[in-house]
Amino acid sequence: MIEWNEQQRMIQKMVRDFVAKEVVPNLDDIEYNGVPPYDILRKMIKTFGMDVMATQNFEKRIAREKAGDQAPREDDGEGGGSGEQAAMTMIPIIELSRHAQGLVTAMGVSMGLAGGAIMSKGTLAQKERWALPLLTLEKVGAWAISEPNSGSDAFGQMKTLARRDGNDGYVINGSKTWITNGPFADTIILICKLDEEGVEPRDRKIVSFILDSGMEGLEQSKPFKKMGIGSSPTGELFFSDLKVGADRLLGGSETAYGRSGAKATFMQERAGVAAMALGMVERALELSTAYARDREQFGRPIGDNQLIQLKLAKMEVARANLQNMVFRYIEMTAAGKRMTLAEASAMKLYAAQAAMEVSTEAVQIHGGYGYMRESRVEQLMRDAKILQIYAGTDEMQVIAIARDLIGRD
Ligand SMILES: Cc1cc2nc3c(=O)[nH]c(=O)nc-3n(C[C@H](O)[C@H](O)[C@H](O)COP(=O)(O)OP(=O)(O)OC[C@H]3O[C@@H](n4cnc5c(N)ncnc54)[C@H](O)[C@@H]3O)c2cc1C
Repeated sequence: MIEWNEQQRMIQKMVRDFVAKEVVPNLDDIEYNGVPPYDILRKMIKTFGMDVMATQNFEKRIAREKAGDQAPREDDGEGGGSGEQAAMTMIPIIELSRHAQGLVTAMGVSMGLAGGAIMSKGTLAQKERWALPLLTLEKVGAWAISEPNSGSDAFGQMKTLARRDGNDGYVINGSKTWITNGPFADTIILICKLDEEGVEPRDRKIVSFILDSGMEGLEQSKPFKKMGIGSSPTGELFFSDLKVGADRLLGGSETAYGRSGAKATFMQERAGVAAMALGMVERALELSTAYARDREQFGRPIGDNQLIQLKLAKMEVARANLQNMVFRYIEMTAAGKRMTLAEASAMKLYAAQAAMEVSTEAVQIHGGYGYMRESRVEQLMRDAKILQIYAGTDEMQVIAIARDLIGRD
């Protein structure tokens, strides 16, 4: 794949027009004034029939599973689905990220992480009970692993514990923090540890539960104030003697969604980051090129100076690299191939750093104006920073790449 095909370009234009009409005029509200992003996202999903498509795929999959066929298929969307589906997923991510990357984060966590976890590891009954409203964003989902003292070392320092209670229930105590959609989530995938007599804290099993907002013993905080991605609400979750039945144990067993389930989710997140970075870099480059052409100092456009040209050239290199990475991901999906952990992590590391560098240089090219909110490049710079932190920090990507290359787990 060397460029978008005609049909993809048509979709790209339609999404771009939608963003111009529905997102851009509301940017201040969703980024800074605390208006939740979900209504805009639901409108986009309906406008492009994404809810109808998700419902059809869901119904086909459930019918097959009821007939005893458990194997995932291309059109289930697992591993990205077909190449065409992968392209259709990437285009809205790129287009939204040009203006409000937070919208992608909020949507991706709800539909991809929370909905995806239930579809990949949930029992048939759990899929029927919880998955579809998440896949259509009728309901908001969260995926909670991070805690105040356990971020990069998510499993090692995890303190939130589930204790067996009677024959088929559990009691959960602890807290989670920096959880995307946490304040508004209707459905929460909670990853915690099993508190078993005689088992050392580091060796405890990882177990996951599906929770509903409003359960007794579950508290959802207000959104945090953050540096960027204001359109993605982030908050804390508190669990005090929260009682759950075994029907909420993800996958129906204590081993169904443990360390490996959570790690598979990290891989999925990493691929999406390249598309987000591409949208942000494209926009930063467009704004910077126009400013370099129009802004005059010392009697000539600033773009006539080689120091500014070097910045623009480096931005273009990053844009081309990111586009190639996105196209490669689509091609690999079409060929039914999966990236290695090293490759997915390398893509995430490069994409995050490229978005940060390009957006910082975009602010520099815009000078004082770049420091003003009105210029929009300062938002790209603040939004870019999160790409180096969530879904595994830059440092953790380096470790993942090296470990995979030298064959360490
Ligand atoms: C806006 C936002 C949304 C988020 N959404 C979610 C969500 O939906 N669900 C969820 O569960 N979590 C979420 N997170 C949490 C996120 O995944 C963590 O912040 C991230 O994993 C890093 O953990 P930490 O913040 O505890 O940093 P730490 O792990 O404390 O790291 C601090 C610094 O030390 C470095 N470091 C740590 N260990 C090493 C090492 N071994 N070698 C070298 N350097 C190291 C890190 O790279 C980092 O630079 C979100 C965070 C933010 C900010």
